[in-house]
Amino acid sequence: MKRQHSHILAACTLYVVLALAGCYKPVDYPVIVKVLPPPIPEPETARSIIGKSIENRPMVHTVLGRGTDVTFIMAAIHGNEKAGIPLVHRLEKFLQENPEMLEKRKVVLLPIANPDGVASNSRYNARGIDLNRNFPAPNRINSSRFGRIALSEPETRFIFQLIRQYAPDRIVSIHQPLACIDYDGPSQALANRMAEYCNLPLKKIGAKPGSLGSHAGVMLGIPVISLELPKSADSFRSERLWQQYGPALVAAVAYPYRAK
Ligand SMILES: [Zn+2]
Repeated sequence: MKRQHSHILAACTLYVVLALAGCYKPVDYPVIVKVLPPPIPEPETARSIIGKSIENRPMVHTVLGRGTDVTFIMAAIHGNEKAGIPLVHRLEKFLQENPEMLEKRKVVLLPIANPDGVASNSRYNARGIDLNRNFPAPNRINSSRFGRIALSEPETRFIFQLIRQYAPDRIVSIHQPLACIDYDGPSQALANRMAEYCNLPLKKIGAKPGSLGSHAGVMLGIPVISLELPKSADSFRSERLWQQYGPALVAAVAYPYRAK
């Protein structure tokens, strides 16, 4: 028994000696180096769905460019005024094809500001509210048609948030059927410029209670243009719409410089 013990002791001693002498090395596990992919650059075009209408339709806005000069263009805040929708989509295509336009600029596009109204071909949203009377403004009127309070409607709140988030230098909202360029806030020079690029006359209609023009134009001091297309624009194909009114939108984006 004593001899067995001495054998084990000898083996252990040998192991310790070998280990101390560096002859025994523990197994080398491979070192796993994680190669991280390069950071993804911020996309030139960001598309996000944040807003939802009363009937849960998405309100999709697109942001092009990363510059500090911001133009916000929307259509169909009155759902039965649809001619602006293909025009805004066509503008997006144009800006993607002409990225030099987006240098130092950002363009926020909301092609359908009243999705429920567009779906039912109605001026109003699904609760019968005129969204263009639902903004906070000193001239707002609380009513069943304009909303019992300002920003009572999710669609209006979404547009209000976009204006706060992007702080646009100018806003264009496309309407029908008055066939003119109406303007609110410090926007006469911009309205003049846009009128040079289309056949619509300037017409100062006056800020309506709780309208986008009253809120963003008069109250916040942002130039707001209501681009009022004629009723006949409903029957125009997208290319004809673009030829007639696209240059005025491009001039708004390029402002204060002249669009080429
Ligand atoms: Zn309208």
